[in-house]
Formats: sequence, structure tokens, C-alpha cells
Amino acid sequence: KANRSFHPENTVIPVGSQAIGGNQLAIIAGPCSVESRDQIIGIAKDVKAAGAGFLRGGAFKPRSSPYSFQGMQEAGLELLKQAKQATGLPIVTEIMSISQLEQYHEDIDVIQIGARNMQNFDLLKAAGQINKPILLKRGLSATIEELLMSAEYIMAGGNENVILCERGIRTFETYTRNTLDLSAVLAIKKLSHLPVIVDPSHAAGLWWMVESLSKAAVAVGADGVIIEVHQDPSNAKCDGQQSIKPERFAALMNSLREIARID
Ligand code: PEP
Ligand code: MN
Repeated sequence: KANRSFHPENTVIPVGSQAIGGNQLAIIAGPCSVESRDQIIGIAKDVKAAGAGFLRGGAFKPRSSPYSFQGMQEAGLELLKQAKQATGLPIVTEIMSISQLEQYHEDIDVIQIGARNMQNFDLLKAAGQINKPILLKRGLSATIEELLMSAEYIMAGGNENVILCERGIRTFETYTRNTLDLSAVLAIKKLSHLPVIVDPSHAAGLWWMVESLSKAAVAVGADGVIIEVHQDPSNAKCDGQQSIKPERFAALMNSLREIARID
């Protein structure tokens, strides 16, 4: 179902009054994690003013260490809903389990399945049973074929609203957090009709690379980017080193508009 041979036109996925794929560039921005009411509403207003179309923010966080901040959980989701109410921005947030999916999917506009869950086949099957867009991130060491097969699991269940995300993969290089595979955008576009976005924040792990990598992603034909933005990166509870400040995000939005020739 994800295969372009059976579906030559690019898929456009409606999200509220907006869409991901097709001619528009989807800009998803916000903090790694929801930390407080002021934090998430403040960032939501800033990224909205800069021109972002969607708000990201983690409430349920898949951290590598069980001792790291695990997210605000349900309270974080409530704050995301308040930020949506304040700005009108649709919410993009990760769920980690079938029970969270069942409990919270009505509240989320785009449900993220993170890199660590890309091959959680039971979760993928459950995501196939609901009628919400799914943002499926490439696994840490997953091939393009494996990413497409994971999309297939969701689509086989009847939910064809899948957005793919290249977020960097593990290589022998350690300078960056992951290695951004921009050729994956081209390969996926050739193999599939699904929209593909790029996450330069988790790919590089370094805030000062995010701007250039975002421009490169749009230049190579990505349907959008998902970017971590924080007002005070050095005190962020998660991923501060890869988060850009709202001012820098606003400047980046202007560059992306020029590259994509959007208004
Ligand atoms: C995230 O988007 O905050 C995240 C945890 O991403 P990934 O699953 O790509 O590591
Ligand atoms: Mn993060």
C-alpha cells in the first residue's frame, strides 16, 4: 500500500484545516518535552508567530535511561491541548504503547511513533486500526525498506495516513548524534507516495547544525521538517543541546520559505 507503483500520485494527508504532503511544506516545531504550562504555551505562540504549522512536544518520552525525565505524561498532554487552544496549532506528540494509543488518540492530531518503536509491530497494528495521521520515525538502525515495511503494517490495518520521518541513523561517526541520511528522502520518494519529513534536531544532536540541515532537507525535496525549539535550551529537561531558540527558528522559517518558495 505504501508502494508508488500502485499509487503514482503523492499522498496528501489532511490534518484539521491543514495538510502534510503535496505542495505545502509542513513545519512542525516545539520543545522535545512539555515542561510546564508557561513553557509550552510560550513556545507555541513563538513558533506560530514565526509561521510553524504544527506544535510538537513530548508528554510520554522514550528515554534511553530510566533515571532521565520521562515526560509529564497525561498532564503534559493536557498542557499541549491548552497550547493548541491558545494558538490553533495542531498537536504532534509521541505515544509509546497500545494502551496510551487507545486512551489518548482522540486528543492528538498527529500521533508520533518514535524511532525506538518503529518495529513494535503490535503498536503499528494498533495504529492501523485508528483514523488519525501517524508520524512514523525511522528506527535508529533501520533500513529504508524496514521503514517502509513498518508503514505497511499501519496501512495494512486500514489507516493509510502515514507520514515518514528521516531522523538520522547510527553509523560509526560519533561527532553528530546520528548521521542524517538525506538520500533516504530521495529513495523513499522514489519507492513510495507517502509524505517524508526530516528531523534535523535528532539527526545532528547539535543546535548549530539544525538551520543548515533544515535547508538541505527542503532543498532535497522533503515535505517538511520537525524541529526542536526551546526558550532556554541550556535548562531544557531534554535535548537542550539540539534545540534552537525561537528567534533563530523565526529566521530559519524565512530561509525555508525562500527555498520552498512558499508564502
Ligand atoms: C522525539 O521526537 O522527541 C524523539 C524521541 O525522537 P526519535 O524517536 O526520533 O528519537
Ligand atoms: Mn528530543
